[in-house]
Amino acid sequence: VVDPILKNQYISLNDILSMGFNAIITNAYILKKHINTVVDIHKHLNFNGIIMTDSGAYQILRYGDIEVSNREIVLYQCEIKSDIGVILDIPTSYNVDRETALRSADETYRRAVEALDIVESCRGTLWTLPIQGGTHLDVLRQYAMKSVDVFYRGYSLYALGSPTTLLEQYEFDKIIDMIFTVRSVIPFSAPLHLFGAGHPLIIPFAIALGIDTMDSASYILYAKDNRYITSRGTYRLEDLRYLPCTCPICSKYSLEELQKASKDERTKLLALHNLYIILKEFKEVKQAIKECRLWEYLESKANSHPATRRAFEQVKRYVEFIYRHTPIVKPNAKAVFIISKDSIYNPKVMIPRRRIVERFSIEGECLNLIPYIYNGRKIPSIFNENESSKCINYVYIPILGIAPLKLVDHYPYSQFEFGLEIDGDVIDDLSYIILEKLLIERKMSKLAKVNIYICQDIEWHRKLYNRLANLTKSFKEINIEVVLKTIKC
Ligand SMILES: [Zn+2]
Repeated sequence: VVDPILKNQYISLNDILSMGFNAIITNAYILKKHINTVVDIHKHLNFNGIIMTDSGAYQILRYGDIEVSNREIVLYQCEIKSDIGVILDIPTSYNVDRETALRSADETYRRAVEALDIVESCRGTLWTLPIQGGTHLDVLRQYAMKSVDVFYRGYSLYALGSPTTLLEQYEFDKIIDMIFTVRSVIPFSAPLHLFGAGHPLIIPFAIALGIDTMDSASYILYAKDNRYITSRGTYRLEDLRYLPCTCPICSKYSLEELQKASKDERTKLLALHNLYIILKEFKEVKQAIKECRLWEYLESKANSHPATRRAFEQVKRYVEFIYRHTPIVKPNAKAVFIISKDSIYNPKVMIPRRRIVERFSIEGECLNLIPYIYNGRKIPSIFNENESSKCINYVYIPILGIAPLKLVDHYPYSQFEFGLEIDGDVIDDLSYIILEKLLIERKMSKLAKVNIYICQDIEWHRKLYNRLANLTKSFKEINIEVVLKTIKC
């Protein structure tokens, strides 16, 4: 977010552009109020990147009302040649009752319809349709659904309104709910913008649930308040003993120099540092997406702050949605990292876990369950498919589940790295996958016997066998003979 009034800017737009931010958002209402004439916004700001303009909705949120109408400010954004414009929506304030939320959502919708003729005729600008309702998820859902028709008549992106207060209170779980509610209702191909959310702690979680773009003034607002953003949380400058950052600002200045700088100079330097940290977060997320390791990134990020743990736990509630929209085949995917128990929700893990259990039937009366030994040890050669042709060979792998032996040379079985302690929970999880498979097979196939092979020197193998033996005993309807076979691995 940059101020459209040049003299108010702490950081030049050139600096912002050269850092790597090629799109900014500024405020059309403030510009109009200040200069009261039509200018070309790119020339006025001397910025050749993408310029999004907000309409004054944030000012409504703060001051109650503003001196411009919806149609006026939409037309003005068209005239100043904004690349991305926004109607004058009515943000739902923090902690309002359902009636008030409903009114703001309804009025925002009405205004989206009201501006349609300008939106349709002003094709040089991409128009944003905000959805309001705040934390009243039923209101959000209702208006996200209702707006689909209007969207297709001239709008190019949706936006989700105003989680700024929630962010400041670190109520990330509520923001996650809001994002999911809108994302799951609007067309999957429609971009979704998140207003006012630029803190590194929320960025990866918002993106994981399908936020495409976001804006934030946090870098400058925090800087004015002496707050120093890091990827693990925000500090007050006076509470720091070190500068835990190597950006150009923190490399050039010492903590003492920052603390002693004049108010204006310090604000500028802190704002620059804050921007570097936000940019770093975006770059890390984008790299993780390229490697198909966004889930792994979320797992590690979850452990950096109690608020990110809450955000992650909330994202986990929506894994079915993520699973449904994850491509089955990803040609460039790197090895799956199994780094915590939450790795079972990694779409790259969920896909094979489920597909093997649900879609591969065991054609035979006998199943060998063989341990998949990683850490360089090979699967014993006695399981060569030709030699023991009476039994079908499957391997078992903690977290990843079970797989036909003939698939172990394929992704992800051929490409995963395991860094997790195999405790009771992990053994339980694997036992239940096997049990589920046996229950399905009992109905569908002739399977009558399962040989469970365990390595004599690996303790968790024996625990797995004991667990399975107990489970199959208590599920009498399985009626499959379970035999223990101990081998040297
Ligand atoms: Zn820094």
